[in-house]
Amino acid sequence: MKADLKGMSLAETEAWVEEQGLPAYRAKQLRQWLFKGLVSSFREMTNISKDLRAQLEENARINHLVQVKTQVSKDRTTKFLFKLEDGHFIETVLIPERGHFTLCISSQAGCAMGCRFCLTARQGLKRNLTASEIVDQVIHVKRSMSEPDRLTNIVFMGMGEPLANFDDVARALSNLISEEGMNFSHRTVTLSTCGLVPQIRRLGKEVRVNLAVSLNAADDETRSFLMPVNRKYALKSLVAALKEFPLLNQRMITFEYVLVGGVNDRDEDARRLVALLKGLRAKINLIPLNPHPDVDLAPPSPERVLRFQEILIQHHFTAMIRKSKGQDISAACGQLSGARASEQ
Ligand code: SAH
Repeated sequence: MKADLKGMSLAETEAWVEEQGLPAYRAKQLRQWLFKGLVSSFREMTNISKDLRAQLEENARINHLVQVKTQVSKDRTTKFLFKLEDGHFIETVLIPERGHFTLCISSQAGCAMGCRFCLTARQGLKRNLTASEIVDQVIHVKRSMSEPDRLTNIVFMGMGEPLANFDDVARALSNLISEEGMNFSHRTVTLSTCGLVPQIRRLGKEVRVNLAVSLNAADDETRSFLMPVNRKYALKSLVAALKEFPLLNQRMITFEYVLVGGVNDRDEDARRLVALLKGLRAKINLIPLNPHPDVDLAPPSPERVLRFQEILIQHHFTAMIRKSKGQDISAACGQLSGARASEQ
Protein backbone atom coordinates (compact mmCIF):
# COMPACT_ATOMS: atom_id res chain seq x y z
CA MET A 1 0.00 0.00 0.00
CA LYS A 2 1.20 3.49 -0.80
CA ALA A 3 2.13 5.77 2.11
CA ASP A 4 -0.39 8.48 2.83
CA LEU A 5 1.87 11.45 3.50
CA LYS A 6 -0.65 14.16 4.47
CA GLY A 7 -2.02 11.94 7.23
CA MET A 8 1.36 11.09 8.76
CA SER A 9 3.22 12.83 11.59
CA LEU A 10 6.75 14.15 11.19
CA ALA A 11 8.14 11.11 13.05
CA GLU A 12 6.19 8.71 10.81
CA THR A 13 7.36 10.54 7.72
CA GLU A 14 10.95 10.29 8.93
CA ALA A 15 10.58 6.55 9.49
CA TRP A 16 9.07 6.13 6.04
CA VAL A 17 11.77 8.19 4.39
CA GLU A 18 14.36 5.96 6.03
CA GLU A 19 12.62 2.84 4.75
CA GLN A 20 12.84 4.36 1.31
CA GLY A 21 16.61 4.57 1.76
CA LEU A 22 16.54 8.37 1.81
CA PRO A 23 18.30 10.78 4.16
CA ALA A 24 16.26 12.09 7.11
CA TYR A 25 16.09 15.70 5.86
CA ARG A 26 13.79 14.56 3.05
CA ALA A 27 10.95 14.17 5.56
CA LYS A 28 10.94 17.85 6.42
CA GLN A 29 11.39 18.76 2.79
CA LEU A 30 8.34 16.72 1.80
CA ARG A 31 6.25 18.18 4.59
CA GLN A 32 7.34 21.65 3.58
CA TRP A 33 6.02 21.04 0.07
CA LEU A 34 2.77 19.50 1.30
CA PHE A 35 1.79 21.89 4.07
CA LYS A 36 3.48 25.15 3.08
CA GLY A 37 3.83 24.68 -0.68
CA LEU A 38 0.28 23.25 -0.84
CA VAL A 39 1.21 21.00 -3.76
CA SER A 40 -1.15 18.36 -5.05
CA SER A 41 1.38 16.34 -7.03
CA PHE A 42 5.01 15.28 -6.77
CA ARG A 43 5.63 17.01 -10.07
CA GLU A 44 5.32 20.36 -8.36
CA MET A 45 8.20 19.57 -5.98
CA THR A 46 10.68 21.36 -8.16
CA ASN A 47 13.77 21.04 -5.98
CA ILE A 48 13.53 17.24 -5.99
CA SER A 49 15.15 15.31 -8.82
CA LYS A 50 13.04 13.62 -11.44
CA ASP A 51 14.21 10.16 -10.43
CA LEU A 52 13.39 10.69 -6.81
CA ARG A 53 9.99 12.14 -7.71
CA ALA A 54 9.29 8.99 -9.70
CA GLN A 55 10.24 6.83 -6.71
CA LEU A 56 8.04 8.91 -4.42
CA GLU A 57 5.15 8.76 -6.80
CA GLU A 58 5.37 4.99 -6.90
CA ASN A 59 5.38 4.58 -3.15
CA ALA A 60 3.31 7.44 -1.75
CA ARG A 61 0.18 9.39 -2.46
CA ILE A 62 -0.70 12.95 -1.62
CA ASN A 63 -3.90 13.89 -3.37
CA HIS A 64 -7.20 12.65 -2.01
CA LEU A 65 -9.96 14.99 -3.00
CA VAL A 66 -11.37 15.92 -6.35
CA GLN A 67 -12.94 19.34 -6.39
CA VAL A 68 -16.21 18.85 -8.22
CA LYS A 69 -17.94 22.15 -7.81
CA THR A 70 -17.78 25.51 -6.07
CA GLN A 71 -20.69 27.84 -5.39
CA VAL A 72 -20.41 31.44 -4.26
CA SER A 73 -23.14 33.01 -2.16
CA LYS A 74 -24.37 36.60 -2.37
CA ASP A 75 -22.49 37.21 0.88
CA ARG A 76 -19.28 35.74 -0.65
CA THR A 77 -19.44 32.53 1.35
CA THR A 78 -18.04 29.79 -0.88
CA LYS A 79 -19.05 26.15 -0.74
CA PHE A 80 -16.70 23.51 -2.14
CA LEU A 81 -18.00 20.11 -3.11
CA PHE A 82 -15.34 17.38 -3.06
CA LYS A 83 -15.56 13.84 -4.31
CA LEU A 84 -13.72 11.17 -2.34
CA GLU A 85 -11.93 8.31 -4.02
CA ASP A 86 -14.74 5.87 -3.23
CA GLY A 87 -17.39 8.14 -4.70
CA HIS A 88 -18.79 9.79 -1.55
CA PHE A 89 -19.13 13.55 -1.43
CA ILE A 90 -18.23 16.06 1.25
CA GLU A 91 -18.60 19.81 1.54
CA THR A 92 -16.32 22.51 2.92
CA VAL A 93 -17.35 26.12 3.44
CA LEU A 94 -15.12 29.22 3.26
CA ILE A 95 -16.60 32.08 5.24
CA PRO A 96 -15.40 35.67 4.82
CA GLU A 97 -15.19 37.59 8.09
CA ARG A 98 -13.86 41.04 8.84
CA GLY A 99 -10.26 40.98 7.65
CA HIS A 100 -9.90 37.21 7.57
CA PHE A 101 -11.49 33.94 6.54
CA THR A 102 -12.80 30.98 8.48
CA LEU A 103 -12.92 27.53 6.91
CA CYS A 104 -15.59 25.10 8.04
CA ILE A 105 -14.39 21.53 7.39
CA SER A 106 -16.00 18.10 7.42
CA SER A 107 -14.81 15.17 9.52
CA GLN A 108 -17.11 12.46 8.16
CA ALA A 109 -19.07 11.77 4.98
CA GLY A 110 -22.59 11.95 6.38
CA CYS A 111 -23.24 11.64 10.10
CA ALA A 112 -24.67 9.04 12.47
CA MET A 113 -25.89 11.38 15.20
CA GLY A 114 -29.41 11.88 13.84
CA CYS A 115 -30.08 15.45 15.03
CA ARG A 116 -33.65 16.28 14.07
CA PHE A 117 -32.90 19.72 12.60
CA CYS A 118 -29.79 18.89 10.57
CA LEU A 119 -29.76 17.95 6.91
CA THR A 120 -26.47 16.05 7.11
CA ALA A 121 -28.15 13.64 9.54
CA ARG A 122 -30.65 12.64 6.85
CA GLN A 123 -28.12 10.68 4.87
CA GLY A 124 -26.76 8.72 7.82
CA LEU A 125 -23.08 7.94 8.17
CA LYS A 126 -21.27 6.94 4.98
CA ARG A 127 -17.82 6.74 6.54
CA ASN A 128 -15.15 8.49 8.56
CA LEU A 129 -12.74 10.72 6.70
CA THR A 130 -9.06 9.90 6.94
CA ALA A 131 -6.69 12.45 8.49
CA SER A 132 -5.38 13.26 5.04
CA GLU A 133 -8.86 13.87 3.63
CA ILE A 134 -9.49 16.28 6.50
CA VAL A 135 -6.23 18.20 6.01
CA ASP A 136 -6.63 18.11 2.24
CA GLN A 137 -9.81 20.22 2.47
CA VAL A 138 -7.73 23.01 3.98
CA ILE A 139 -4.93 22.60 1.44
CA HIS A 140 -7.29 22.62 -1.57
CA VAL A 141 -9.16 25.70 -0.42
CA LYS A 142 -6.04 27.58 0.60
CA ARG A 143 -4.53 26.86 -2.77
CA SER A 144 -7.54 28.34 -4.52
CA MET A 145 -7.42 31.61 -2.56
CA SER A 146 -5.87 34.80 -3.86
CA GLU A 147 -4.76 35.72 -0.33
CA PRO A 148 -4.09 32.37 1.35
CA ASP A 149 -2.59 33.98 4.46
CA ARG A 150 -5.94 35.44 5.33
CA LEU A 151 -7.28 31.97 6.05
CA THR A 152 -6.64 32.06 9.79
CA ASN A 153 -9.47 30.12 11.42
CA ILE A 154 -10.58 26.53 11.09
CA VAL A 155 -13.77 25.12 12.55
CA PHE A 156 -14.75 21.44 12.60
CA MET A 157 -18.39 22.33 12.00
CA GLY A 158 -18.99 20.82 8.59
CA MET A 159 -20.40 17.37 7.92
CA GLY A 160 -19.99 14.75 10.61
CA GLU A 161 -19.27 14.43 14.31
CA PRO A 162 -15.52 14.96 14.75
CA LEU A 163 -15.30 13.14 18.07
CA ALA A 164 -16.85 10.04 16.50
CA ASN A 165 -13.74 9.97 14.30
CA PHE A 166 -11.32 10.73 17.09
CA ASP A 167 -8.03 9.29 15.88
CA ASP A 168 -8.06 10.75 12.40
CA VAL A 169 -9.35 14.10 13.63
CA ALA A 170 -6.56 14.24 16.24
CA ARG A 171 -3.98 13.40 13.58
CA ALA A 172 -5.37 16.04 11.26
CA LEU A 173 -5.33 18.59 14.08
CA SER A 174 -1.72 17.94 14.76
CA ASN A 175 -0.76 18.51 11.10
CA LEU A 176 -2.92 21.65 10.98
CA ILE A 177 -1.48 23.12 14.14
CA SER A 178 2.16 22.01 14.31
CA GLU A 179 4.69 24.61 13.27
CA GLU A 180 6.27 22.40 10.63
CA GLY A 181 2.78 21.45 9.47
CA MET A 182 0.27 24.06 8.38
CA ASN A 183 1.08 26.22 11.40
CA PHE A 184 -2.41 27.35 12.34
CA SER A 185 -2.58 28.73 15.87
CA HIS A 186 -4.33 26.41 18.30
CA ARG A 187 -6.25 29.51 19.39
CA THR A 188 -7.94 29.77 16.01
CA VAL A 189 -8.88 26.12 15.51
CA THR A 190 -12.19 24.97 17.02
CA LEU A 191 -13.64 21.51 17.27
CA SER A 192 -17.41 21.33 17.63
CA THR A 193 -19.17 18.31 19.12
CA CYS A 194 -22.73 17.22 19.77
CA GLY A 195 -21.53 16.04 23.17
CA LEU A 196 -19.77 12.65 23.16
CA VAL A 197 -18.72 12.67 26.80
CA PRO A 198 -15.91 10.07 26.94
CA GLN A 199 -14.30 11.58 23.83
CA ILE A 200 -14.54 15.11 25.28
CA ARG A 201 -12.58 13.86 28.28
CA ARG A 202 -10.02 12.21 26.04
CA LEU A 203 -9.70 15.34 23.90
CA GLY A 204 -8.97 17.43 26.98
CA LYS A 205 -6.11 15.10 27.89
CA GLU A 206 -4.60 14.65 24.45
CA VAL A 207 -5.15 17.69 22.22
CA ARG A 208 -4.93 21.45 22.62
CA VAL A 209 -7.81 22.94 20.70
CA ASN A 210 -10.81 25.19 21.31
CA LEU A 211 -14.01 23.40 22.11
CA ALA A 212 -17.53 24.19 20.93
CA VAL A 213 -20.55 22.20 22.05
CA SER A 214 -23.84 22.03 20.19
CA LEU A 215 -26.16 22.28 23.15
CA ASN A 216 -29.48 23.32 21.62
CA ALA A 217 -31.51 22.74 24.78
CA ALA A 218 -31.03 23.08 28.52
CA ASP A 219 -33.26 20.25 29.70
CA ASP A 220 -32.95 16.57 28.90
CA GLU A 221 -36.41 16.10 27.48
CA THR A 222 -36.08 18.83 24.86
CA ARG A 223 -32.48 17.94 24.10
CA SER A 224 -33.28 14.26 23.60
CA PHE A 225 -36.13 15.27 21.26
CA LEU A 226 -33.76 17.36 19.16
CA MET A 227 -30.58 15.29 19.56
CA PRO A 228 -30.79 11.53 20.12
CA VAL A 229 -27.20 11.53 21.46
CA ASN A 230 -28.61 13.06 24.65
CA ARG A 231 -30.26 9.74 25.49
CA LYS A 232 -26.81 8.28 25.81
CA TYR A 233 -25.00 11.24 27.37
CA ALA A 234 -27.46 13.34 29.34
CA LEU A 235 -26.83 16.96 30.25
CA LYS A 236 -25.55 16.21 33.73
CA SER A 237 -22.69 14.05 32.47
CA LEU A 238 -21.98 16.48 29.63
CA VAL A 239 -21.70 19.48 31.93
CA ALA A 240 -19.55 17.51 34.39
CA ALA A 241 -17.08 16.69 31.59
CA LEU A 242 -17.06 20.30 30.41
CA LYS A 243 -16.31 21.60 33.89
CA GLU A 244 -13.16 19.50 33.83
CA PHE A 245 -12.13 20.40 30.30
CA PRO A 246 -8.78 22.21 30.41
CA LEU A 247 -9.19 25.63 28.84
CA LEU A 248 -6.31 27.48 27.24
CA ASN A 249 -5.53 30.90 28.80
CA GLN A 250 -8.59 33.07 29.09
CA ARG A 251 -10.45 30.88 26.66
CA MET A 252 -14.10 29.89 26.90
CA ILE A 253 -16.17 26.99 25.70
CA THR A 254 -18.51 28.05 22.91
CA PHE A 255 -22.06 26.78 23.14
CA GLU A 256 -24.08 26.64 19.96
CA TYR A 257 -27.78 26.92 20.53
CA VAL A 258 -30.03 26.49 17.50
CA LEU A 259 -33.25 28.34 18.29
CA VAL A 260 -36.32 26.38 17.21
CA GLY A 261 -39.70 28.12 17.35
CA GLY A 262 -41.91 26.81 20.17
CA VAL A 263 -39.39 24.09 21.11
CA ASN A 264 -36.46 25.68 22.96
CA ASP A 265 -36.95 29.44 22.58
CA ARG A 266 -39.07 30.48 25.58
CA ASP A 267 -37.91 32.79 28.37
CA GLU A 268 -37.96 29.79 30.61
CA ASP A 269 -35.56 27.95 28.28
CA ALA A 270 -33.15 30.88 28.41
CA ARG A 271 -33.29 30.88 32.21
CA ARG A 272 -32.65 27.15 32.31
CA LEU A 273 -29.68 27.68 30.05
CA VAL A 274 -28.33 30.31 32.43
CA ALA A 275 -28.67 27.90 35.34
CA LEU A 276 -27.09 25.02 33.43
CA LEU A 277 -24.03 26.99 32.36
CA LYS A 278 -23.45 28.59 35.74
CA GLY A 279 -19.83 28.22 36.74
CA LEU A 280 -18.61 27.43 33.24
CA ARG A 281 -16.51 29.81 31.17
CA ALA A 282 -19.08 29.93 28.43
CA LYS A 283 -20.00 32.05 25.46
CA ILE A 284 -23.17 31.33 23.57
CA ASN A 285 -23.83 31.48 19.86
CA LEU A 286 -27.54 31.65 19.09
CA ILE A 287 -28.35 30.28 15.65
CA PRO A 288 -31.93 30.78 14.44
CA LEU A 289 -32.90 27.49 12.78
CA ASN A 290 -32.21 27.26 9.09
CA PRO A 291 -35.38 25.59 7.89
CA HIS A 292 -35.63 23.06 5.09
CA PRO A 293 -38.64 21.41 3.52
CA ASP A 294 -37.95 17.95 4.97
CA VAL A 295 -38.08 19.13 8.58
CA ASP A 296 -41.23 20.23 10.40
CA LEU A 297 -39.42 22.72 12.62
CA ALA A 298 -39.38 26.49 12.17
CA PRO A 299 -37.20 29.35 13.35
CA PRO A 300 -38.55 31.69 16.05
CA SER A 301 -39.60 35.25 15.27
CA PRO A 302 -36.76 37.80 15.28
CA GLU A 303 -38.24 39.35 18.44
CA ARG A 304 -38.06 36.00 20.23
CA VAL A 305 -34.43 35.63 19.25
CA LEU A 306 -33.61 39.08 20.64
CA ARG A 307 -35.51 38.40 23.85
CA PHE A 308 -33.66 35.11 24.34
CA GLN A 309 -30.36 36.88 23.86
CA GLU A 310 -31.37 39.64 26.25
CA ILE A 311 -31.98 37.20 29.09
CA LEU A 312 -28.55 35.64 28.61
CA ILE A 313 -26.87 39.03 28.54
CA GLN A 314 -28.73 40.14 31.67
CA HIS A 315 -27.08 37.20 33.36
CA HIS A 316 -23.64 38.31 32.16
CA PHE A 317 -23.15 35.77 29.42
CA THR A 318 -21.62 36.69 26.08
CA ALA A 319 -24.37 35.74 23.65
CA MET A 320 -24.14 36.43 19.93
CA ILE A 321 -26.80 35.93 17.33
CA ARG A 322 -25.17 34.18 14.40
CA LYS A 323 -26.50 35.27 11.07
CA SER A 324 -26.24 32.18 8.97
CA LYS A 325 -24.06 32.84 5.98
CA GLY A 326 -24.41 31.14 2.64
CA GLN A 327 -28.09 30.23 2.99
CA ASP A 328 -28.79 30.86 -0.69
CA ILE A 329 -26.34 28.11 -1.67
CA SER A 330 -27.24 25.72 1.18
CA ALA A 331 -23.93 26.35 2.88
CA ALA A 332 -25.31 27.47 6.25
CA CYS A 333 -25.31 25.49 9.51
CA GLY A 334 -27.11 22.20 9.15
CA GLN A 335 -27.54 22.52 5.40
CA LEU A 336 -24.55 20.50 4.22
CA SER A 337 -25.39 17.39 2.33
CA GLY A 338 -22.69 16.38 -0.11
CA ALA A 339 -24.70 13.40 -1.32
CA ARG A 340 -27.45 15.59 -2.65
CA ALA A 341 -25.24 18.24 -4.06
CA SER A 342 -24.25 15.75 -6.74
CA GLU A 343 -27.84 15.72 -7.96
CA GLN A 344 -28.27 19.48 -8.07
N1 SAH B 1 -21.35 17.29 14.87
C1 SAH B 1 -20.71 18.49 15.34
C2 SAH B 1 -20.19 19.35 14.20
C3 SAH B 1 -21.27 19.94 13.32
S1 SAH B 1 -21.50 21.59 13.78
C4 SAH B 1 -21.64 19.25 16.25
O1 SAH B 1 -22.79 18.83 16.39
O2 SAH B 1 -21.22 20.21 16.88
C5 SAH B 1 -22.95 22.00 12.96
C6 SAH B 1 -23.71 23.05 13.76
O3 SAH B 1 -24.87 23.42 13.00
C7 SAH B 1 -24.22 22.50 15.08
O4 SAH B 1 -23.98 23.45 16.09
C8 SAH B 1 -25.71 22.35 14.86
O5 SAH B 1 -26.41 22.55 16.07
C9 SAH B 1 -25.99 23.42 13.84
N2 SAH B 1 -27.15 23.12 13.00
C10 SAH B 1 -27.48 21.93 12.49
N3 SAH B 1 -28.64 22.02 11.77
C11 SAH B 1 -29.00 23.32 11.82
C12 SAH B 1 -30.08 24.05 11.25
N4 SAH B 1 -31.01 23.46 10.50
N5 SAH B 1 -30.14 25.37 11.49
C13 SAH B 1 -29.19 25.99 12.24
N6 SAH B 1 -28.14 25.35 12.78
C14 SAH B 1 -28.05 24.02 12.58
